[in-house]
Amino acid sequence: MACKCIMPDEMSKPLIRERGEGGSSRHLEAPMSDPGDPVIGILGTGDFSRSLARRLVASGYQVVVGSRTPKRSVALFPAEAEVTSQMEAASQADLIFVAIFSEHHSTLMPLKSVLAGKTLVDVSNGLHISQDGPSNAEMLADFFPESCVVKGFNTISAWTLQMGPQDGNRQVFLCSDSQKAKNSVKQICHRMGFIPVDMGLLSSSLEVENLPLYLFPSWRVPILCTLSLFIFFYLYNFLRDVLQPYITAGKSSFYKMPIEIVNVTLPSVALVMLALVYLPGLFAAFLQLWWGTKYNRFPGRLDRWLVTRKQFGLCSFLCAVLHAIYSLCLPLRKSARFKLINMAYKQVKAGVEDSWVDEEVWRMELYLSVGIMALGLLSLLAVTSLPSVASTVNWREFSFIQSTLGYCALFMATVHTLLYGWNRAFDASQYRFYLPPTFVLVLLLPILVLLGRLALFVPCVAGRLRQIRRGWEQSRHIRFTLPAEDCRNGLEDISNV
Ligand code: NAP
Repeated sequence: MACKCIMPDEMSKPLIRERGEGGSSRHLEAPMSDPGDPVIGILGTGDFSRSLARRLVASGYQVVVGSRTPKRSVALFPAEAEVTSQMEAASQADLIFVAIFSEHHSTLMPLKSVLAGKTLVDVSNGLHISQDGPSNAEMLADFFPESCVVKGFNTISAWTLQMGPQDGNRQVFLCSDSQKAKNSVKQICHRMGFIPVDMGLLSSSLEVENLPLYLFPSWRVPILCTLSLFIFFYLYNFLRDVLQPYITAGKSSFYKMPIEIVNVTLPSVALVMLALVYLPGLFAAFLQLWWGTKYNRFPGRLDRWLVTRKQFGLCSFLCAVLHAIYSLCLPLRKSARFKLINMAYKQVKAGVEDSWVDEEVWRMELYLSVGIMALGLLSLLAVTSLPSVASTVNWREFSFIQSTLGYCALFMATVHTLLYGWNRAFDASQYRFYLPPTFVLVLLLPILVLLGRLALFVPCVAGRLRQIRRGWEQSRHIRFTLPAEDCRNGLEDISNV
């Protein structure tokens, strides 16, 4: 095996040298390139090209950069990278990164003959999410039909390339019609410390180009839902607890707006959002029972709702955590202390010696205990929804946590709210402006979901659903008549024929 000896004076050589005075060293190490390694070309001298050149040089590749104005750009690149004309770079390199915007791909046409038979890596991104092709990479492949185009590195920012893969996204999505070209780019990825993810043929390039343009697509509906529910319940509580006493008795309770009203609103949102996590699953189950098959497609909205259940759950968890923090801070408020002192004073004045009410004490103990348990279960659900944790459990464990424990969390949170409301739902004075107390509204959906789940536990329903989910279909359930003498009632059912 060939051994590369490092001479003492080589040790003092900078790892990656800057051009210019003295060639001060960089933090990246530049191992010597292997004679068998491909020469890597980069067309373009912008931010991406500079970061890529540094990372490639640090990984031991020989790099040649092609520019329209090499003299102007040469100072921006490490000394190990050669900066030359586009034509020169294209003819020297075996594999070429096209680090220029897609609008300018056509200006590379004069290089067509020298690029023939070589691999071109298209790193470009689009301006907008596009559902209709052709993609930038497909257009590049049309310009250079004799080259092998690989789409990739567009999801890696210049910053990540510069800082190194340990400090950012490590996955590089690659697709190409040439497996050989894709494999050589995969090798480069590995050597630079990135993880190549094979996305198949070049026809997937539109999807790869859209990847960095998405802005939390699966969070939009859950966040909108959370905000809408928050605004609705906040206004509802404000109307009942602040506006009603002010209008009817002239009592100013506006101080309740920043904490008390928010703290009643947050658990309302948390519970409704948690019910919304389990409601689409029930719809899906009842639809399958109704259709008698699992092979019909769900309506589009239900489909999208089912895949965003995790986000609904995490929004619910956030509201529940905020509710817990707000509740812990309630006694710290000046208003709470004044109220307590006033109450004690009134009781002393009225000659009440012992203000202990057994029912109230028990209600509060149970209310807090169940609430803490619900929050604990919700935390478990949130943690197991993290991809890194979810990948450590098998499917059965995951569905046990997310479904069984999830329903337990919903049940506990519902009991927590019931204990909070206690018998106030039956107290006429609680119906301010004829509006029912907030907890009555909040409880509707969770109770409906829990009853729906109970209905699915009924043995005949559960059995039929289990059959359907294992492929049984009602429409294939053939029903025919046998001669009267062969069959007592004249009808015979043959299932699953
Ligand atoms: P940039 O800084 O504007 O650099 C573009 C380079 O293209 C210029 O420096 C220019 O170099 C070269 N070029 C060649 N022909 C050109 C022409 N006809 N008109 C204008 N410029 C021409 O852009 P960039 O940020 O490096 O991005 C380059 C490509 O990488 C883009 O397709 C982008 O979508 C993709 N990308 C960038 C990032 C990032 O973080 N920046 C991340 C992922 C993907 P010369 O003048 O030396 O020829």
